[in-house]
Amino acid sequence: MTVTQDATAADLKALAEQAGRDLEDASALEILRWAVDTFGDRFCVTSSMEDAVVAHLASRVRPGVDVVFLDTGYHFEETIGTRDAVDAVMDVNVITLTPLQTVAEQDAEHGPKLHDRDPDLCCALRKVKPLEDGLTAYGAWATGLRRDESPTRANTPVVGWDEKRQKVKVSPIARWTQDDVDAYVTEHGVLTNPLLMDGYASVGCAPCTRRVLEGEDARAGRWAGRAKTECGLHG
Ligand code: SF4
Repeated sequence: MTVTQDATAADLKALAEQAGRDLEDASALEILRWAVDTFGDRFCVTSSMEDAVVAHLASRVRPGVDVVFLDTGYHFEETIGTRDAVDAVMDVNVITLTPLQTVAEQDAEHGPKLHDRDPDLCCALRKVKPLEDGLTAYGAWATGLRRDESPTRANTPVVGWDEKRQKVKVSPIARWTQDDVDAYVTEHGVLTNPLLMDGYASVGCAPCTRRVLEGEDARAGRWAGRAKTECGLHG
């Protein structure tokens, strides 16, 4: 049954929490099938273009599914290249969101390298706000969050309620390990960001991402040396 646009936030929250319990042991494809059946065109996948695993899974359930990419203006060339390759070869509809200001406009208003001085504000302007605006048309969005990525993600539900955006948030590979991801990539020939072969375990904006050291968790290279661990999209 597809939920209508009239559904209240309370209805959607209850739906999400019930689905989170019901689908805890379901496969990624089953979780995505539920999302597509429940939300139809009002469901999208968001991708940082670290890899195209969730986009690939979703395209198997719904060919032509919307895949939303946030172009902060600070991405590595490899990330933009991965986005372009996904757009060219996969059966998905890539939608690129951009912040209200270019990097030059932001520098003029806030001074250069805001990411070094106030990364929370930089993320709010270049990630959180554009995603919030871009998701307006959707009732549910899928992410590639995994519980094994970091302690802050250890309790990620497979389906949950995104209080900040008042939307259903689907994390179909929440229970997967890095080995599961690697096996899926190999089996299906899924596109991945070349930086993953170059010492990066998690790929974000260039100024805020470094390679990880042996024994570090996958997200240790993000905002390294700062207390910040998330950009505000998932917290
Ligand atoms: Fe700015 Fe860094 Fe956040 Fe990207 S990750 S939006 S450069 S603070």
